[in-house]
Amino acid sequence: MNFYDIKNPAQKVSLKEAVLKSISAESGLYMPELIPALSESFFKNLSNLNLQEIAFEVSNAMLGDDIPHEALKKIVNEAISFPIPLKQIDENLFVQELFHGPTLAFKDVGARFMAGLFQYFLRNENREVVILVATSGDTGSAVANAFYNIKGVKVVILYPSGKVSELQEKQLTTMGGNITALEVEGNFDDCQRMVKQAFADKELNQQVNLTSANSINFARLFPQSFFYFNAIAQLGKQDKPVVISVPSGNFGNLTSGLIAKRMGLPINQFIAATNRNHVVPDYLKSGEYKPQRTHHTITNAMDVGDPSNFPRISEIYQKQQLLMAADIKGFWYTDEQTRSAMAELQEKYAYQSDPHGAVAYAGLKECGLSKERISIFLETAHPAKFPEEVEKSTHLSVTIPESLKEIMKLEKKATKIPNSYVSLLQQLKQVV
Ligand SMILES: *Cc1c(COP(=O)(O)O)cnc(C)c1O
Repeated sequence: MNFYDIKNPAQKVSLKEAVLKSISAESGLYMPELIPALSESFFKNLSNLNLQEIAFEVSNAMLGDDIPHEALKKIVNEAISFPIPLKQIDENLFVQELFHGPTLAFKDVGARFMAGLFQYFLRNENREVVILVATSGDTGSAVANAFYNIKGVKVVILYPSGKVSELQEKQLTTMGGNITALEVEGNFDDCQRMVKQAFADKELNQQVNLTSANSINFARLFPQSFFYFNAIAQLGKQDKPVVISVPSGNFGNLTSGLIAKRMGLPINQFIAATNRNHVVPDYLKSGEYKPQRTHHTITNAMDVGDPSNFPRISEIYQKQQLLMAADIKGFWYTDEQTRSAMAELQEKYAYQSDPHGAVAYAGLKECGLSKERISIFLETAHPAKFPEEVEKSTHLSVTIPESLKEIMKLEKKATKIPNSYVSLLQQLKQVV
């Protein structure tokens, strides 16, 4: 499979280059030249397959020309070593829990799969790759965990000092080894700006193989399509239309759902559920895409004013808003509405949700919880990652998993730096 640069479609690269580089020299996103359809027999048999079998079949269709079966199986099995259960909470209402990985957010699946691909592509090479990530919490911890000890890879994480939760900070700063945590005196936008500047720095890029582990990287994004196949598989045989609501920030998760649909998966309707950062819901109504300054909310993993995967979605629909709006409905909610949704999930269905999942539930409800449809919302993080907000809304204490308790005991190791590009450069020189 070759990949083309959305900004310059004539420019094509191999899977290996798309994965190791993340973006083109002109900062364009890569898309597969073709989204392969899976066979009729695969879909007939889908509900008999387990998660790892599904993940193998789906990735083999997309990546099978570039990676031998055995190697791909190993990557899939190591990346997805935990369940992704679909739970029924009412007659036609389901929640899919994506948070059973090591860092308790859905980004584990993409980060671990991506780490497997890096390991495979770098196996016979001497080159060293430096993954540079700015994080407001979840991405950094998933990437640190997934790339720990991977040969040929160093990870440098920038996070805003005092603006991630204590638990998230521990997850980012206690790995050591090939993982370096930089605590930036500034906010998340500063971190992101410094990272962008590094990617645009020609001189630096001649010396260092810099890459990203955000969902701009196709290897991080694509494995998220397994969620959707797994949801349909777990529903089993049934003929009602299916609507899936996705709590969205950079829109990587939703993009992978749309790719699953293009591969033939019967999902009738997607919901793009966001917080006050509602550029995409606005676009779906007006046809105008207007990036905004980021607003801070209690669903901080979705605080994105200019979602990086919007160009991919636009590409899938050939830039036609009406086609896009037929498949995707957009809704957004204030923090108060998110809290009410958490309270309602607890009261009505005895389900304790994190704030991000609650935003997705609110979207389903606004779309109408009809008996004629199956409604599914994605729960993207464990409630224990946001204990204060969850306890306040559900009036119920959150059970902290053992793995988190262990991490809280470890010692933080981070280097504090000012929010200037020069300081980042100095640190990078020490790492490589
Ligand atoms: C990253 C994240 C999101 C948003 O996912 P995108 O793919 O960026 O749209 C939603 N919820 C949680 C908990 C996350 O960590």
